[in-house]
Amino acid sequence: MRWSINAGSIFGIKLRIHLTFFLLLLFVFASVMSEYGVRAAGMSALFICALFTCVVIHEVGHSLIARRFGKKAESITLLPIGGIAAIDQMPTKPGQEIAVSLVGPFINLAIAGILYVLVGAKTGVAMPNLYPESGKAFLAGLIGVNIMLAVFNLIPAFPMDGGRVLRGLLAMRMDSVRATIWAANIGQAIATFFIFFGVFFNLWLALIGIFLYLGAGSEKQQVVLQSLLADVPAGEAMTTEYMSLKPDNTLTDALEHFHHGCQQDFPIIDDSGLRGILTRDRILAAIHTNGLNATVAEVMDKTFATVDSKMGLDQVYRKFLSGNKTAVAVVDDGRLKGIIGLDGISRYFMIRAALKGVDAAGFVAQMKNAMTA
Ligand SMILES: [Zn+2]
Repeated sequence: MRWSINAGSIFGIKLRIHLTFFLLLLFVFASVMSEYGVRAAGMSALFICALFTCVVIHEVGHSLIARRFGKKAESITLLPIGGIAAIDQMPTKPGQEIAVSLVGPFINLAIAGILYVLVGAKTGVAMPNLYPESGKAFLAGLIGVNIMLAVFNLIPAFPMDGGRVLRGLLAMRMDSVRATIWAANIGQAIATFFIFFGVFFNLWLALIGIFLYLGAGSEKQQVVLQSLLADVPAGEAMTTEYMSLKPDNTLTDALEHFHHGCQQDFPIIDDSGLRGILTRDRILAAIHTNGLNATVAEVMDKTFATVDSKMGLDQVYRKFLSGNKTAVAVVDDGRLKGIIGLDGISRYFMIRAALKGVDAAGFVAQMKNAMTA
């Protein structure tokens, strides 16, 4: 995420802090100082730091359990609204997703429990206060805030952990796409209630409701899109009538083809086979830096990715994201079958949507008849 700085790592998971988090600290410090003085402001800043340490431990919990199930947990980013654990892929097995999601709130309950056993007899439990006036109030608030974090995260609405638990439970009875749609709809119903109730009684609740409503919507969209993609093999969406270039062609040649054809990405081929991929973005960027006489070999992507023609488009899409690519080569048994780019995928779905409700097979038969008549 942009605007975040590295703050070391925990169990090999990078911890990043978004710059706006420091703005929050500064804001709290300044507003408490103007009313209660420097000492109080320091106390408030310390409380925010303690609160966010608990948030980080919560996210570390998610990441470590996900890693146990073989998922990559790369980083945790701390934002003023909480933490985000970047987990490569959520587990697809319902039981695993439930475990990964439950561990976060469980950790907050555990922190509250441990603090309560250690100091709770003296401090009690209190609603968190941004300006704790004493050490006792500080600890009582910290216990309270951890209980709130656990409860809040267990709300069964995306993108809260509770929403994922709900999806996991539903996915034990139905396929995961339907489970996601159900869980997201339930989440949006709860969010709508928050918004209406919040408008009259508590504006924060309304804001949280909006955040939940949008989160559930985007999760639903993502999963539906992914299932649509998974149904289509790469071989069906790839461009098979492509023009290829040779490594010693110049950028002028590439530009010529790019300009006069409708092709955006070119496979670079010599006698020994596929050597690289030259994408539109590379051509356009290289015109400035390398000049028009540069050879294709200098500019092409040599670390290109390849996929199998049977591979689902969801996996192809993941290759785009993980390798930061906009096009991949479709190769079966060492032979280049076609090329597939991001724009090709969207074109494929555009055509499919246009043909929806149209009898495509009948249309093709009619065309053939017309041609042979
Ligand atoms: Zn969580």
